[in-house]
Amino acid sequence: MRSIVTGGAGFLGSHLCDLLIGKGHKVICIDNLVTGKTKNIEHIKSENFTYLKHDITKPVYFGDKIDYIFHLASPASPVDYLELPIQTLKVGALGTYNMLGLAKEHKARLLLASTSEVYGDPLVNPQPETYWGNVNPIGPRGVYDEAKRYAEAITMAYHTHHGIETRIARIFNTYGPKMRANDGRVVPNFINQALKDENITVYGDGKQTRSFCYVSDLIEGIFRLMMSEYTDPVNIGNPTEMTVLEFAERIIEITGSKSRIVYEELPVDDPKVRRPDITRARGVLGWEPKVKLEDGLKETIEFFKRTE
Ligand code: NAD
Ligand code: UDP
Repeated sequence: MRSIVTGGAGFLGSHLCDLLIGKGHKVICIDNLVTGKTKNIEHIKSENFTYLKHDITKPVYFGDKIDYIFHLASPASPVDYLELPIQTLKVGALGTYNMLGLAKEHKARLLLASTSEVYGDPLVNPQPETYWGNVNPIGPRGVYDEAKRYAEAITMAYHTHHGIETRIARIFNTYGPKMRANDGRVVPNFINQALKDENITVYGDGKQTRSFCYVSDLIEGIFRLMMSEYTDPVNIGNPTEMTVLEFAERIIEITGSKSRIVYEELPVDDPKVRRPDITRARGVLGWEPKVKLEDGLKETIEFFKRTE
C-alpha cells in the first residue's frame, strides 16, 4: 500500500506516518514546513518513507500508484491560522482540490482532516455530526472554519460527482508529544508556563469548555475511519469535557508547579463549549478513546521537559 500524508511533518501527521510505517505502508510525507518541522520525522529511517517538501496549493504528480491520501495539511492552532489567514484558506481550498485531483487520477481513497471548528461556537452540546454549526464567516476564525467547511463540501462533491472514495474526520482538540511549545494552543501554553513556574494565562473567565483527546487515540480513529466504508463525517475526539479553568488547575496539580492563574482577554469568537458526540465513531468504527487525561498529560509533560 502506498499512502500520502499531507502535513506529515506536523504534530498529527508525524504520528500518523509512524503508524502507517509500522503497518507496512510505503509513505510519502508532503509538507511545506509552514508550521511543521523535519525534526518530527527525522527518526523514521525506513526505506518505505519519503519526504517531499512541497506546497500542496500547487499541483503534484506521482507515477507510481497511490492507494490512500491522508490529507492533514493546514495550519491548525488559532495563533497559527490567525497569522496565516490566506495560506489557511488556500490550503483548505486549493490544497484540498489538488489532493482530490490526485485521488481521482490514482483512484485513491482520500481522508480529509476536518475539525470541530465546522461547528463554530456551537449552540448544541455535545455536537453530533448532524449539527450544521454556528460559524461567523467574516470573524477572525472564519479563515479556518470556512476553509474546512469548503474542504468538506468539495470532498463530498468529488465523492458524489466523480465517485471518489472519501472519508471526513472531524477532529476535536488533540494533544500529545510533538506539539510545538509555542503554537499558542492551550495544552502547550499551560504545560510550558507550569514547568517554568510562570503565570498560567486563562483567557476570559475560563468557563469555556474543551474535551481533550490523546494523540495515539486520535490516530487510531483516523486510521480506522480510512479503512472503513463510511463516507459521512465522523467526529473523532474525547467526550470528557472540562472548563479551561479546571484544565489549568489539573496542569498545576500534575506538574506540582508554583504557577498562579491570571486572566487575559478572551479571543474573538472563542467557542464557549466543545464536546464531541462520538456515538457514530463507536458504532461505525468500534472506536473510542482509551487514554486517560492524566496519563496523556504525563507523556506530554515529559516531552516538553525533554525539549526545553
Ligand atoms: P500542525 O500545524 O502541526 O500540522 C499541519 C502541517 O501541515 C504542518 O506540518 C504544515 O507545515 C503543513 N502544511 C500547512 N500548509 C501546507 C501546504 N500548503 N502544503 C504542505 N504542507 C502544509 O497541525 P496539527 O495539529 O498536526 O493538525 C493537522 C490537521 O488536523 C490539520 O488539518 C488540522 O486542521 C486538523 N485538526 C487538528 C486538531 C488538533 O487538535 N491538533 C483539531 C482539529 C483538526
Ligand atoms: N486558552 C487559554 N489560555 C491560553 C491558550 C488558550 O485560556 O494560553 C483557551 C482558549 O481561549 C480556548 C481554549 O483554551 O477557549 C482552547 O484553545 P486552543 O487555542 O487550544 O484551541 P481551540 O479549542 O480554541 O481551537
